[in-house]
Amino acid sequence: MSFEKNVYAVSLQHEIAMKVESENPFEAMMARFKVASDILELDSGMFEFLSTPARVHITAVPVVMDSGELKVFEGIRVIHSDTMGPGKGGIRFAPDVHVDEVKALAAWMTWKCAVVSVPFGGAKGGVRCDPSKMSPGELERLTRRYTANLIDVFGPDRDIPAPDMNTNEQIMAWIVDTYSMHMRRTETAVVTGKPIVLGGSQGRVEATGRGVMTCTLAGMEKLGLRPNQATVAIQGFGNVGSVTAKLLQMQGCKIVAVSDVSGGYYNENGLDIEAMIAYSKNNRNSLAGYPEATSIDNETLLTLDVDILVPAAKENQITVPVAEKVKAKIIVEGANGPTVAHADKILHDKGIMVIPDILANAGGVTVSYFEWVQDRQGYFWSKERVNRRLDRKMEEAFHDVYQTASKYDISLRIGAYVMAIDKVARALRLRGIYA
Ligand code: GLU
Repeated sequence: MSFEKNVYAVSLQHEIAMKVESENPFEAMMARFKVASDILELDSGMFEFLSTPARVHITAVPVVMDSGELKVFEGIRVIHSDTMGPGKGGIRFAPDVHVDEVKALAAWMTWKCAVVSVPFGGAKGGVRCDPSKMSPGELERLTRRYTANLIDVFGPDRDIPAPDMNTNEQIMAWIVDTYSMHMRRTETAVVTGKPIVLGGSQGRVEATGRGVMTCTLAGMEKLGLRPNQATVAIQGFGNVGSVTAKLLQMQGCKIVAVSDVSGGYYNENGLDIEAMIAYSKNNRNSLAGYPEATSIDNETLLTLDVDILVPAAKENQITVPVAEKVKAKIIVEGANGPTVAHADKILHDKGIMVIPDILANAGGVTVSYFEWVQDRQGYFWSKERVNRRLDRKMEEAFHDVYQTASKYDISLRIGAYVMAIDKVARALRLRGIYA
């Protein structure tokens, strides 16, 4: 038996009455949203509309485990906004997924899509489970039942999921299949980040890391830093961190530190990223025991004396005490929400350029958009075309955010929020409120 509960119009007052100091990601998003909306002089109705998720779905996902035992997992899907188009955003599988986190991530998707001008709203999903303790069969049953429960929510014109933490191409393929079985036709455009053979796009796997690279190069240019003189530390060695490391190394940067859940790895002469990717692949996706490096802890990595720091793991990594010790000249946020709101001012006062998540990691959703376009056209592009268009979109977005930040004399983060919120607010005013 499954049930679904829609929670409409979560009270804004309730949300912002919660303590701002905490590291709740929704509050972190709201803290920046508030600053940007003051700059834009948003009226209170618009403020409330844009900060309230349009729909929050919570659904029980029952799964018969391999042992025969029945377990029930919590499935979440939040559509923050569909003003600009269908909801868009990944699904994460993690033991600590919480509806507040998913609400923040969904709102970030709205702003991210607006920053890179792709015609989507913002959404995000999560299932509270520990995928590392589940067999492929259990994960397949979980994914299919989650999809079936949300069958009226998803759709190429309604809400389009994608991979996020601990979800991948195979999981997207199961979503396509489950959705298609219910629709009685094959519908590949219902998710992005699919395997290429099943309507996926060239370049999608590398897209987020590639966008991080483009933003890093653009930021370095502004500061007069040359790639072959720059040192880099990267937190996280998943799809975003490892690709970013590889691409920045190809640009001539020296990657001196990377980390994954097994710990941090440092080599002052530069790490061999290709070798580390191969090592991790052969070691059940873990760098544990990698020989050509000394081990360092998380905080040491984040506060290394490097030019570029790329947090590409998860939320709330650059806390206030960490921010006080950061030595990098540029922080490029590969992860969503890696910096707590209270650290913004510290980093700004220290003169550190922070290229915010909603710009820096928007390469992923940009190529998701290209994938959706290709699926709907039934015409597929070469990798060169995808990369060229991605690079152009990221460069334009960086330029637009930079201009907005200069115009109002604000950080790139608030510049990105101002630009995004202004676009969505203008669209909403033109649409009006249907009564
Ligand atoms: N999960 C990715 C993100 O946070 C990609 C979302 C998408 O492509 O829809 O941006």
